[in-house]
Amino acid sequence: MQQGEKISVAIRVRPPIRQELVRGSQWKLGARTIALYNALGAPVLGQSYMFDQIFTKDATNASVYEIHAKDLVLSGLQGFNGTIFAYGQTSSGKTYTMRGSERDPGLIHRAICDVFSTIQSILDREFLIRVSYMEIYKEEINDLLAPENRKLRIHENSVRGIFVAGLREEIVSSPDQVFEFLKFGEAYRHFGKTNMNVYSSRSHTIFRMVIESRDKKNDGQDDALDAVRVSTLNMVDLAGSERIAKTGAGGVRLKEGTHINKSLMTLGT
Ligand code: ADP
Repeated sequence: MQQGEKISVAIRVRPPIRQELVRGSQWKLGARTIALYNALGAPVLGQSYMFDQIFTKDATNASVYEIHAKDLVLSGLQGFNGTIFAYGQTSSGKTYTMRGSERDPGLIHRAICDVFSTIQSILDREFLIRVSYMEIYKEEINDLLAPENRKLRIHENSVRGIFVAGLREEIVSSPDQVFEFLKFGEAYRHFGKTNMNVYSSRSHTIFRMVIESRDKKNDGQDDALDAVRVSTLNMVDLAGSERIAKTGAGGVRLKEGTHINKSLMTLGT
């Protein structure tokens, strides 16, 4: 890890569903630890884990955002790159957390609102925000803002670093405009069925905000330190991480499952 990089990992526990309640063993939560106890109430050896944060089933998306994501989003406005993603098996609550509902909007929604409201208060800088939205499905990168852009490739050069060639970027000036783009992109996502969940998302999606800002006092003298900052915020909704054997999937679904695991490597790049 490079100096200045920081990774923070939280566990979020959702309310149990009926079939989970009949199981004998259960996870017990501490402030930063989660440990498995057997049906007799004894801790299971080697099944205790520590994280930066544990959110119980009573946590709201609002509190998850405030405690675990807000700082990262605001760092984006100061020129730091950041990524927020949810990882877990199908039905564990990734979409609930990243996208949320109207009543309790998810992390993506909150981050977008926060970015726009915060830049209003930074008077000495001028901001330009661009968004893009892509999915990785069966190892292919597709543009969710421009459905004709399919099978995009990852490139690297000295100016842009690693980037997805041909991905559409839209300049945006308000949260509502971003939400419209998100809605548009959602319509093109792929959905399927597995035995684990009635509908489960079978693709990774990456929503990116490129935040560029200029020092207003520095009229045209771009060589000054910190005059221009560019950073990227990535918000990722991953496909389910479950093992294929467990899902009982076959045919297309099995293939998708295999690709999802491979796609994690593409996503890493
Ligand atoms: P995933 O995206 O990981 O497949 P979902 O986000 O779709 O899982 O969650 C599965 C189900 O559990 C949904 O019905 C969702 O509303 C519910 N759920 C997930 N997390 C929570 C939570 N923290 N509180 C209440 N319900 C939740």
